Amino acid sequence: MNKQNFSDLGLSPEVLKAISDLGFEEPAPIQAAAIPVLLAGHDVVGQSMTGSGKTAAFGIPAIELCQASDRTVQVLILCPTRELATQVADEIHKLSSHKKGIHAVPIYGGASYERQFYELKKGVQIVIGTPGRLMDHMDRGTLALDKVKMVILDEADRMLDMGFREDIEKILQATPKERQTVFFSATVSRQIRDLIERHSKSPKSVSIQQKEVTVPTVEQWYYETPQRMKFEALLRLVDFHGYKLGIIFCNTQRMVDELADDLIAQGFSADRLHGGIAQAQRTRVMNKFKKAEFEFLVATDVAARGIDVDDLELVVNFDLPYDAEDYVHRIGRTGRAGKKGMAVTFVSGRDIYKLQYIEKFTRTKIRRGTIPTAGEVEERKVESLLDQVRDVLNRGNLSTSQVDRLLEEGFSSTDIAASLFVLLGGPAAETRPPSGNAAPPAAAPETKKPKPQPSEPQPSLRPPARGMQWVRLSVGRETRVTPRDIVSLLEDSLGLPGRSVGIIDISIGQSFAQVADQYVDVLKNGPRKIEIQDGFVNISHVPVQRKEREYAPNNRPDKPKYSKKEFRKKKY
Ligand code: AMP
Repeated sequence: MNKQNFSDLGLSPEVLKAISDLGFEEPAPIQAAAIPVLLAGHDVVGQSMTGSGKTAAFGIPAIELCQASDRTVQVLILCPTRELATQVADEIHKLSSHKKGIHAVPIYGGASYERQFYELKKGVQIVIGTPGRLMDHMDRGTLALDKVKMVILDEADRMLDMGFREDIEKILQATPKERQTVFFSATVSRQIRDLIERHSKSPKSVSIQQKEVTVPTVEQWYYETPQRMKFEALLRLVDFHGYKLGIIFCNTQRMVDELADDLIAQGFSADRLHGGIAQAQRTRVMNKFKKAEFEFLVATDVAARGIDVDDLELVVNFDLPYDAEDYVHRIGRTGRAGKKGMAVTFVSGRDIYKLQYIEKFTRTKIRRGTIPTAGEVEERKVESLLDQVRDVLNRGNLSTSQVDRLLEEGFSSTDIAASLFVLLGGPAAETRPPSGNAAPPAAAPETKKPKPQPSEPQPSLRPPARGMQWVRLSVGRETRVTPRDIVSLLEDSLGLPGRSVGIIDISIGQSFAQVADQYVDVLKNGPRKIEIQDGFVNISHVPVQRKEREYAPNNRPDKPKYSKKEFRKKKY
């Protein structure tokens, strides 16, 4: 694939800086196609859908066109809904963040007029609005369009479907004839063509020429999950299936960094590749990954191009790629040399349309999966553990001397076996903290006198996140203590701000919380006892090491094996 860089598109240093802040590495196909044509001043008809990167495709040239010294409306963007107007305004704000004196404002129905009057009066160069409310402002004389240089109709087909045709005509007539006119639409119906013919001058058509691509024989699944749940979904899938070597693709450098940090904080060995990393370091990471020296590579498309690793079990599209070709390139990295490969794609919100488009161009069916529940993950672990025990039993030839010693001490054989399961990380010993910070409920019930249960086994806590430590509180679920109570207790006793408390895990007789490093030092010399309404709570430090997992894919006998502890954790 021969892709362009943003720096080839003739953009100002301020916009290039904003693009780099956003972590965009290369133009999406619609951006590479539309930006030069728009910068050259042509009218454009762009056929593109949500999720293709179309907002920046018209937003960047719109920003470049504006004169900061002139505070009259120079660009008008029409959107069908307030949601879209807000999204477009957000993106324009981000893309113009380094352009001093450029202001953009969303104007839509249902919001207060006062604020909109105020913003318009102050002077803005870019107005993003829904047709109805824009008409209201024009009628009231609070929106002047006589200096507009560019009008963009975003999702023009939807605006016509919603009956805005008349408003659109009136708005266009209120703008100067010599303006640049831009239509973006997922479909180009006869009605749209008619609108284009009457309101634009020799428009250039811009659409993504999607080549039909053939997909390798890889098992493909997609999972619908909100953006904020993607990480938990990834952990569950990895835990459930026991994946040990994979690439996880994200669309921006920022997302790559965040995800790699989060995986490492959960005890996985992971590294990252993106265009913001120096070439020498990228080569080092790539070579280590080729030798399977760590489990998960988190990468953008740009950085991962050219990666050639044979035994990849898994490719994850943490973010959906912009075109079908990238999708095929990504998933083609697994299932090589006749091995079974798995491609997993997370889809949030309107991404589902993009996925359908990818399915259409790849002529494959991507199957819909459901994320395993925490219970199912646990169940799978138990099953695997039992399988391994059966294996050992079937092989026979077991030495019984240690068991005999315990039997002589009076323990029963079932108790001995059960306690060995506990040592192996079986469910009796394992209460995993949730991976996100538990949201505090609206009202915090009173904290009753805690009844610590010393016999309660200590859960095998995950390694804490970077910069955090686990602390234990001698108060548990039976007192109906809430995450909010835990945060208050920690605030009062350790004098820390609530935001420095991370994951909270409330179990029976005790609770655990991750707390920023600097507030835990005071506990290292001993626990702290704090008085509550009718009793005391002990707060102590739990030393859990952050530790790189040792691992080796099953089929790589030359690589180090799991340590015993990790083996029970990872390989069920
Ligand atoms: P849109 O199709 O405009 O709704 O864009 C979909 C998402 O992709 C938005 O969250 C954008 O911020 C993001 N995006 C747009 N262009 C790029 C790019 N070149 N690289 C990475 N992300 C992008």
